[in-house]
Amino acid sequence: MIEKRQFYINGAWVNPIEGKDHNVIDPSTEEACAVISMGGAADVDAAVAAAKAAFPAWMNTPVEERIALVETFLEIYQRRSDEMGAAISLEMGAPIDMAKASQAGAGSYHAANFIKAAKNFDFFKPLGAHAPNDRIAMEAVGVCALITPWNWPMNQVVLKVIAAAIAGCTMVLKPSEESPLNAMLFAEFMDEAGFPAGVFNLVNGDGVGVGTALTGHKDVDMVSFTGSTRAGIAISQNAALTLKRVHLELGGKGANLLFADADEKAVKRSVRRMMENSGQSCNAPSRMMVERSIYDRVVDEAAEVAGSIKVASAHEAGNHIGPVVNEAQWNKIQGLIQQGIDEGARVVAGGLGRPEGLNKGFFVRPTIFADVTNDMTIAQEEIFGPVMAIIPFDTEEGAVEMANDTVYGLTNYIQTQDGERANRISRQLRSGMVEINGKSRGAGAPFGGMKQSGNGREGGSWGIEDFLEVKSIAGWTEA
Ligand code: NAD
Repeated sequence: MIEKRQFYINGAWVNPIEGKDHNVIDPSTEEACAVISMGGAADVDAAVAAAKAAFPAWMNTPVEERIALVETFLEIYQRRSDEMGAAISLEMGAPIDMAKASQAGAGSYHAANFIKAAKNFDFFKPLGAHAPNDRIAMEAVGVCALITPWNWPMNQVVLKVIAAAIAGCTMVLKPSEESPLNAMLFAEFMDEAGFPAGVFNLVNGDGVGVGTALTGHKDVDMVSFTGSTRAGIAISQNAALTLKRVHLELGGKGANLLFADADEKAVKRSVRRMMENSGQSCNAPSRMMVERSIYDRVVDEAAEVAGSIKVASAHEAGNHIGPVVNEAQWNKIQGLIQQGIDEGARVVAGGLGRPEGLNKGFFVRPTIFADVTNDMTIAQEEIFGPVMAIIPFDTEEGAVEMANDTVYGLTNYIQTQDGERANRISRQLRSGMVEINGKSRGAGAPFGGMKQSGNGREGGSWGIEDFLEVKSIAGWTEA
């Protein structure tokens, strides 16, 4: 059993002041695989004090030096990337090959994109020719509380920590208590890279304890949070008392508009994208809206694709999907599948219970519902499991209206070979991101949502900007 009870504060691993043991559960076996300590307000105070003390010097460190430290960090990350994949796989259940390639890979990908973006970022610039003595300075927000989820853990940690560090912010990271091991490994990389003491701090804990202490702390200037809409609301309310800047990346209920002229791989691609990471992606295309003329054929094909997806232990090599993260999520998903049945949707693949042959572990059957209407619970609530809803549509306008009829607005998808139509619809969808015909977004593209999917953008130059204040200076004298 792995024991990792310490926190990383002020450049050193320290024992908790208020530690409470917490078992990390391997979702493939339902057994405890590690024990960590969950901190309390005193641990948060110590970490925030370290970040506050480190802030003035770090903010004034030339950006080239900050970038150089991130480059060193990236070398270490790449060297130890497989360890990172193994930690993620163990604690949140992503199959080992996928965890090493995609989950751990996301961290180095984003760090490399930030380095590139930072090198071209204008931190100090003139307002314009009309105001020769005006300057715009982009300056670090200050001490940041970074709170991350378990589903793409390193993706989220890097998107926040590295952007904040480049911007000149100091920080306290609170990773999800479901998946703390990857974040502790990340802290080792930051330590080895040689960031000055206090720039990066890590305290483990849950939302109610450490999370609340951080988001209400008087010396924290900004909160950057990724997780559920429920927690996003609680955090916003708590942070409002000290008027912190709050960045939110929340849930989603992505629509995937599939037209009769979609390419021949569109259905397979869409179903596989939905089931990837066992459906635990905020940007999963969970509502597949299908033009009625091809509806029956698509339902059959989607069911067949879902039926061919293997579910197995995260410890096994191969391109199967693993379990969902924990018992609470497993129960929630089962409840929503039952609700789909009760509300009259038709199960065409998967369904209730565990996949055949798997009696232990939080495994869910890849499930497809047909004949869903957009007002059903399974079309409105984020399920966060391998469950897809298929909804027929008759007209383009109707499809767009249904796609936008949700509280969320993270990623929507379009499948059609009519480029003009795809372009037109991409501008009508109310979401932070749109992906056409399976094309993934380019390096450094901004990630984030509209409506209840959150605010702010992560990744590339937008991600750095998120951690900056804009200062307007008048009367600047040219040296
Ligand atoms: P969660 O909201 O339960 O927890 C996320 C993090 O917030 C954890 O570290 C948790 O300890 C902490 N937390 C919980 N309540 C808190 C509170 N009141 N105050 C402070 N911190 C609190 O979410 P989860 O179950 O870990 O993650 C799944 C959710 O995250 C899904 O809804 C998913 O859509 C969302 N998500 C969104 C994005 C995005 O970028 N939009 C990316 C990944 C995941």
